[in-house]
Amino acid sequence: MSRVTARVHDALNDMLTRSVRARLMALALASAVTALACGGGATSTTPTAPSTTAATTPTTGGTGSGTTSLPAWYAQFGSAVQVSVSGSEVMLRTNSVPDHASYYFGAGHASYEAPHAGMQPNQHRIVGQTVTLRVPVTPSMASTPTDTPLGPIGVAINGVVFFNQYAAQRQPLTFEVLSFDRYNGHPTPTNQYHYHLEPLWLTQAGRSRLLGVLLDGYPAYGPAEAGGAVPSGLDSCNGHTHATSDFPAGMYHYHFTEAVPYLAGCYHGVRGSVG
Ligand SMILES: [Zn+2]
Ligand SMILES: [Zn+2]
Repeated sequence: MSRVTARVHDALNDMLTRSVRARLMALALASAVTALACGGGATSTTPTAPSTTAATTPTTGGTGSGTTSLPAWYAQFGSAVQVSVSGSEVMLRTNSVPDHASYYFGAGHASYEAPHAGMQPNQHRIVGQTVTLRVPVTPSMASTPTDTPLGPIGVAINGVVFFNQYAAQRQPLTFEVLSFDRYNGHPTPTNQYHYHLEPLWLTQAGRSRLLGVLLDGYPAYGPAEAGGAVPSGLDSCNGHTHATSDFPAGMYHYHFTEAVPYLAGCYHGVRGSVG
């Protein structure tokens, strides 16, 4: 199979298995909730700083029986995202409805706003639909970076999912960009609202702030470093490693950029799952 064919195959495979995963995810979620309920306030322990070493990584994750506490930086996710830990994974559950105005809410909705000058709206609307992302509590570098799929590749702190640099059929976003609302979001043909580019609503509060997490568990930041400098030395996945206020000991992280891939050209780490 050629590399391109493999990519298309991956994307199709991803879509085909989504409904199956959703059912499995619901089951997993139910058991995770039960585990938390039985855990006796395990969520009250807050780690002082996320570990950047692999020393505390469970050697064989996935049984769901481990009790790992939630890294402190996840507190930056707002109430639109339900965040919990299940074994070696953080589960983030959202309906991807934005907390800001958008044309795509539709006329008559309290958060509707008219299209801005030059906007060429698409035909779709914002409809909340549950998405669950499972990401490693302790991200780890993959032996080889992997392509990001179509569909959600991560989630913002306001609950809106991130998409990659492609439109359907992995076409460039050249024309889709025109349909973005004032905050760089728009809905899919299945009415799922998402961001491909810098989420302007969130970066209004700081261009260097932490904006979310990708499926491999590494955080995503705005288009500037603390102090305002443009991020330098980004790799092919659009990330690099240095200390930030959230990770004083250093952490690999992605940045939103003006140019393609805008957020992540690939996953640097071992990816989790989405359903
Ligand atoms: Zn899109
Ligand atoms: Zn950086």
